[in-house]
Amino acid sequence: MVINDPEFGEVIVRKSPLSRNIKFTVSTSGRLQMSVPTYTSDFLAKRFLNTNRDVIRKKLPIKDPSTQRARDYQKKLLMKKAKEYLPYRLEYHAKMHGYTYDKCRLTHANTRWGSCSSNRTISLNIGLMNVPEPLRDYVILHELAHLNHMDHSKAFWAEVGSHDKNYKAHEKKLKMFNPGV
Ligand SMILES: [Zn+2]
Repeated sequence: MVINDPEFGEVIVRKSPLSRNIKFTVSTSGRLQMSVPTYTSDFLAKRFLNTNRDVIRKKLPIKDPSTQRARDYQKKLLMKKAKEYLPYRLEYHAKMHGYTYDKCRLTHANTRWGSCSSNRTISLNIGLMNVPEPLRDYVILHELAHLNHMDHSKAFWAEVGSHDKNYKAHEKKLKMFNPGV
């Protein structure tokens, strides 16, 4: 569960059979994390957060919670931008190259730019809005080509190459960006 807290931003609540009591930590991305025993209700977790604000402020090295809030706000904006762009761009490329897919999903996975499932759903990372357009298009074409080849075989790359002749350079450049938002 994620609590959207006005002071601490996104607070990640992890229910774990191993925790005996409620513990606060800060994740590597700077988010406040709460580990709670499995049986803790969402209501109780929220109440605990509210009653422990002073302790959290003092004990945890959240240097600037507003930074976290700003990041969450940026993510929201990015999602809005992505919604208005990526599904249409996908449709455009699909029409142009004669692909049919079932659905377009927007994600904010930390490790991948896109994926294509066997039920023909194409997922695109909203972080694509932060990369140059040719790289963004490359990811879309890459996922579309997976509709015909669910692997990274020679035939797959040949198909990608037929739509984007600079695909190798694009794949390489993409590594300079981080898909995590
Ligand atoms: Zn792939």
